[in-house]
Amino acid sequence: MDKVLSISIGEIALKGKNRKYFEDKLISRMKKAIKGLDYTKIYKEQGKMYIEGAEDNFEPMIDKLRKVFGLVYISPCIRVEKNLEEIEKAIIKVMEERQSKNPVKTFKVKTNRVDKNFPIKSPEVSKKMGGVILRNVEGLKVDIHNPETYVFIDIKENAYIYTERIEGYGGLPVGTNGKGLLLLSGGIDSPVAGFLMAKRGVEISGIHFHSYPFTSQRAEDKVKKLAEILSIYTGKIKLYGINILEIQKELNAKCPEDEMTILSRRFMMRIAEKIALDNDIDALITGESLGQVASQTIQGLSVTNAAVDIPILRPLIGLDKVEIIEVAKEIETYETSILPYDDCCTLFLPKHPVIKPKLADIEKSEEAIDVEKLIEKAIANVEVYNIR
Ligand code: ATP
Ligand code: MG
Repeated sequence: MDKVLSISIGEIALKGKNRKYFEDKLISRMKKAIKGLDYTKIYKEQGKMYIEGAEDNFEPMIDKLRKVFGLVYISPCIRVEKNLEEIEKAIIKVMEERQSKNPVKTFKVKTNRVDKNFPIKSPEVSKKMGGVILRNVEGLKVDIHNPETYVFIDIKENAYIYTERIEGYGGLPVGTNGKGLLLLSGGIDSPVAGFLMAKRGVEISGIHFHSYPFTSQRAEDKVKKLAEILSIYTGKIKLYGINILEIQKELNAKCPEDEMTILSRRFMMRIAEKIALDNDIDALITGESLGQVASQTIQGLSVTNAAVDIPILRPLIGLDKVEIIEVAKEIETYETSILPYDDCCTLFLPKHPVIKPKLADIEKSEEAIDVEKLIEKAIANVEVYNIR
């Protein structure tokens, strides 16, 4: 009778021919997450993954594994040989432990007979084992419609018995869907955007624009802190820091005041695109959400897009602020995001920004400045941080 963690992999199980690729990535992500915690092995068995190791480490392991994308739920189980005698002993133990930790009054046994050679059919196993529980563990009743807990029996090469399902985030393992460069400000939205794209398997790098010394070192530290929290989910993040003070000064001196925001956003995109292409990154990611601020109108987004050729992913585009904040709280970036430090975008902020910019007007304004040279200069002074 051994204790193991079982891991259910949801969407990856549907991957057909590519399944092995996704599974291998997931295993490598899981290994990274539980590095330093003692375990003996990770193995696959008919649609799920299992970790063998010291039971004492299960709790910290679950805490880390929950944050690995691709993982739908985790269950601490007892693994036994698949015969009724062993299953019977295991199910009594599972229920006794359950009752001492997190007691329930009602249960229902659910058997999944994956190994069709097992001679007894699922409903029959459930019925027998329900009886075993009723006879051996006190204070329990069966409730087939609305049980407080299910008692699961998976019959495969071995039999696995468990009651708990601890939810992960699902999604796909980071690294299975290309690379993205996240435009990371110090705000609430961009860390959430990075989280959501990483959840779809995108490997994340970050880029942050600042106007030091007009913006403070503390504002920089805040962005690094956000990247650090994000890296718990995404794995290590390479963060590029770019000073755009000179660009902002130039725009402020030579372009219409009400276009400042859209003009600086076009610079951010161009710089980000260059960094992305130089580093084999396939797309940019922003925390923009339609209509949230003046620059995030369809016209504003179109004029921003027109500055670059690289795809721009905007996973928050259809979310309300309340929904974004909910995720920010869940992933624990919120408290850091709301710290009141300065941001480069508030510098030279126009009083009345253009809400429906026209590309022709914006391109005309840009004729007054040397776009290429400003970009080159900004990139020449890039700072690179390895966040983990
Ligand atoms: P956030 O909460 O992410 O700061 P926001 O609601 O403040 O977003 P904007 O300031 O218009 O909205 O920024 C929209 C997006 O542009 C951000 O989500 C981010 O992806 C990018 N961005 C804005 N400022 C910066 C910056 N200083 N460095 C890097 N990216 C930025
Ligand atoms: Mg912002």
